[in-house]
Amino acid sequence: MTYVVTENCIRCKYMDCVEVCPVDCFYVGETMLVIAPDECIDCGVCEPECPAAAIRPDTEPGMQGWAAFNAKYAALWPNVTEKAEPPADARDWDGAPGKLEAAFGAADPAIA
Ligand code: SF4
Ligand code: SF4
Repeated sequence: MTYVVTENCIRCKYMDCVEVCPVDCFYVGETMLVIAPDECIDCGVCEPECPAAAIRPDTEPGMQGWAAFNAKYAALWPNVTEKAEPPADARDWDGAPGKLEAAFGAADPAIA
């Protein structure tokens, strides 16, 4: 089991999660963060810290695609350990539909 970052992180990117992770397994892209599944120790402390409720256990239904997405981009994006300023319009995007497609073009094949 691991935890995964899901669609509602996109353009919210509050980054409270990176402050609490004991093994620094978050990776950052232009519009969102992901968790490296082979580094996450399943402690769960990041899940309640996310203001966008974007962090879920991969044991939940429908999370297989997101687990693949997190693994894919954790291998491509740089590690992040310090919180940065979230986008000024982060709240406007919290819960907005269609963020995955808007940020990644066609829905990422890892999610399909
Ligand atoms: S706290 Fe939540 S919304 Fe913010 S970067 Fe982490 S996962 Fe994304
Ligand atoms: S569950 Fe724990 S180890 Fe995994 S990403 Fe969250 S804080 Fe880090």
